Amino acid sequence: MATTCERREFLLKLLQLPCSAVLLSVCGPLPLFADEKKEGYDAGEHYYGMGIQVDKCIGCGRCAEACKAENDVLRQPYYFRTWVERYVVYGDGEVTVDSPEGGIHGFSAAQSDREVLRSFFVPKLCNHCDNPPCVQVCPVGATFKSVDGVVLVDKDYCIGCRYCIQACPYGARYLDPRTKTADKCTFCYHRITKGLLPACVEVCPTQARVFGELKAMSSPLRRLMRMSNLQVLKPYLNTEPKVLYSELDREVR
Ligand code: SF4
Ligand code: SF4
Repeated sequence: MATTCERREFLLKLLQLPCSAVLLSVCGPLPLFADEKKEGYDAGEHYYGMGIQVDKCIGCGRCAEACKAENDVLRQPYYFRTWVERYVVYGDGEVTVDSPEGGIHGFSAAQSDREVLRSFFVPKLCNHCDNPPCVQVCPVGATFKSVDGVVLVDKDYCIGCRYCIQACPYGARYLDPRTKTADKCTFCYHRITKGLLPACVEVCPTQARVFGELKAMSSPLRRLMRMSNLQVLKPYLNTEPKVLYSELDREVR
């Protein structure tokens, strides 16, 4: 019986052939992520999203640090499931964006003699799009949207072709060099299926991140949706993100 590794190499070679139909025919049905079927957890009863209150984020980076620890994300820069960006809008109209090491150690004070109109922090992560381009391009069904609305990667099926990484307009994915498979935020799926909060939400000292049910009227996320004017990143792309931002400045991209 072929190992996962052999199967992956076989599929990757097939992918390089001109006839992708051959590949699709060997892929079989969409994989089922184990947690979706976990005992005591009914994915059909949930539909998740996250709210981010930009005016509450202080750029401490505890969310990015907690995510790395919780999800065994490589420590080196460039490997992040979530990160924090700082925007500085200057009086002359220039806008700078920085995110040193994903903001994991916080941000040092900006050194500038120029007039600063405003400065703020924007946490980012996979938007768990309802219309996800990453899912559309995956040739083997390894990236998929779960019943509870979370976009996941089944590493047993991922062949590391990077199509999803290129297709994601939010830069939310990377290739894990250890497994040679695509990786990204899962909303801490292993935690939320046990009724826990994602690690980034749990550690945030200002409750800037609000995780919860998108459809249950009494959920904290729905409350936030009622109280605030929420926006998504790059709405013109029609990806229908489920990460919603309040107080989002027009300069954010
Ligand atoms: Fe896919 Fe990127 Fe959307 Fe996440 S943000 S669901 S990785 S397209
Ligand atoms: Fe912002 Fe909360 Fe993350 Fe700190 S932990 S950077 S306040 S979102």
